[in-house]
Amino acid sequence: MLDYDFHCHSNISDGTLTPTELVQRAAGRGVKMLALTDHDDVDGLAEARTVAHELGMIFINGVEISVTWRSHTLHIVGLGIDPDYPPLVAGLQAVRSGRGARAQKMSDELAKVGVGGVLAGAYQYANNPNMIGRTHFARYLVESGHCKDVKSVFNRYLVKGKPGYVPHQWASLGDAIGWILGAGGVAVLAHPGRYMVGKHSMGKKTMQELLAEFVELGGQAVEVVTGSHTQEQYAEFARYAEQFNLLASCGSDFHGPNESYRDLGRLPDLPMICRPVWQALSVH
Ligand code: AMP
Ligand code: MN
Ligand code: MN
Ligand code: MN
Repeated sequence: MLDYDFHCHSNISDGTLTPTELVQRAAGRGVKMLALTDHDDVDGLAEARTVAHELGMIFINGVEISVTWRSHTLHIVGLGIDPDYPPLVAGLQAVRSGRGARAQKMSDELAKVGVGGVLAGAYQYANNPNMIGRTHFARYLVESGHCKDVKSVFNRYLVKGKPGYVPHQWASLGDAIGWILGAGGVAVLAHPGRYMVGKHSMGKKTMQELLAEFVELGGQAVEVVTGSHTQEQYAEFARYAEQFNLLASCGSDFHGPNESYRDLGRLPDLPMICRPVWQALSVH
């Protein structure tokens, strides 16, 4: 059985390991087929690919694009993309460009509730300053003693309805899928279960509408097995995949040791009814 992982992050976005360290860790855990899927940035792919090949792994170029759909923030993973495809490069650049101003606003909003001066601290955690995001704020707020762990920072300050949450307009769903398809990739709806939990989550009807629109726009796969899904959600999204004729993907969404739901690889098998996404990937 090939061990695979089609969703993880390096310090090009909000992971803690360099692309080299990440690939080495994956290899050490037995992963044979790996996609690096940093948020809104493809700068880690060349390094990761070189190391992956040295270690005898199959490497898939990936990215995870931030999208605003209706009132929801979604993540769309692109697998098997050409990272040099100009509309993708330009699109990602545009998505990243709002992050600096958003970070400033987050810092201002946190200051209003007595958590002052966090901007510089958050940037210390952003290896790639263009990709400053909530996770970097969270790590700084843990280190400076405001909360015990990253999860608590999100719950207390950084999710919708909390004082440090700043609404943001990301890419449109159509643009994100279009860039991925144009770059020769497969578009995957990431961790759908996460959109259905919490106060501002979507219900079943909205999830069905999202899946229908995703397919209409050329989306081909959905994550069924991901670090943040429960066993019940594996089954639930396997059924959605069948209903909407989507391929099924599988990835840890690893961000770093001691911080993620799951470590790299060794994921549970996809449910039997699933057609795995690698059927649509050409491997190099
Ligand atoms: P951003 O793109 O700056 O909005 O940051 C999104 C990232 O924050 C996600 O990719 C996760 O890594 C992290 N994240 C979002 N929600 C949570 C949460 N509830 N707990 C821990 N990490 C989270
Ligand atoms: Mn992340
Ligand atoms: Mn995500
Ligand atoms: Mn992710």
